[in-house]
Amino acid sequence: SDRGVPFNDPEGNFACYIGSCIDVTEQVEAREYLRERDEHLKLLVNERTAELKQKQIAMEELNRTLEKQATTDALTGIYNRMKFNEIFEQLVAQAIRYKINISLIMFDIDNFKLINDTYGHQAGDPILKEITKLIHENIRHIDTFARCGGEEFMILTPHTDEESAFKLAEKLREIIRTTKFSVEQHITCSFGVTQFKDRDNIDSFLKQVDDSLYRSKHAGKDRVEVI
Ligand code: GH3
Ligand code: MG
Ligand code: MG
Repeated sequence: SDRGVPFNDPEGNFACYIGSCIDVTEQVEAREYLRERDEHLKLLVNERTAELKQKQIAMEELNRTLEKQATTDALTGIYNRMKFNEIFEQLVAQAIRYKINISLIMFDIDNFKLINDTYGHQAGDPILKEITKLIHENIRHIDTFARCGGEEFMILTPHTDEESAFKLAEKLREIIRTTKFSVEQHITCSFGVTQFKDRDNIDSFLKQVDDSLYRSKHAGKDRVEVI
C-alpha cells in the first residue's frame, strides 16, 4: 500500500514526495482467507439447511402416516373407534353448548358370520369395503362415519333430528339390501337410531343407539329401530 504527498521547496517548486510504502500482503491474504472461509461456511449452512429441510419433510410425512394409522381402520380406510370417540365427544359438547340437533346411527351387518363360514373370511373383507364405499357415497360431508368393531359401524349426523336420521338410515338400509355384492347371498344390515336429548350425556347417548340396534336385531334384522 503506497501513499505519497508531493513536497515543495521554499520557492514553491516540487522537491520530492514524502510518503510510505507498507507491505499489506498479510492483510490481503488474511482478508482473502476470511472471504473464502465465509463462502465455505455459507455453503455449509446451505447444505445443512437443505438436509434439515429434507429431514423435516420426511418427519412430517411420517407423522401424517402415523396419524392416519392411528385414526383410520386399515381395511376400510374410514375412521376407527378411537378417532370416532374423539370427534364424538367434541361434537356432543358443541351440540349441548349451541343447542344443535345431533343424531347417531349404528348399524351391523346381518349374519356376517354365516357369510364368512360359507364363502370364507377372504370373501367377507371385500363386503366390508363395499358397504363402506356405499355408505360414504350416501351420507353428507359433515357426517362422521367410522368402523367401530368387526362388522359394526357408526354414523354421527350433526344438524339432524331423529326423524331425518331415521329417513337416512332407511335409505342406507334399502341401498344395502338392493345392492348386488361380490357373494351370491343377499347382504342386509340392521340399524339403530337415536337423537341426543336434553337429559342425555355421552354414555346414555351411546347406550341408546346400542339398545336400538339390539332391538332391530331382535325384531328380525334388516330394519331400523329408533329410541
Ligand atoms: P348378527 O346378524 O346378529 O349381527 O350376526 P353376525 O353373524 O353378523 O354376528 P356375530 O357377532 O355372530 O359375528 C360377526 C362376524 O363378523 C364374525 C366375524 O368373523 C365377522 N367379522 C368381524 N370382523 C371381520 C373382518 O374384518 N373381516 C371379515 N371377513 N369378517 C369379520
Ligand atoms: Mg352382525
Ligand atoms: Mg356385530
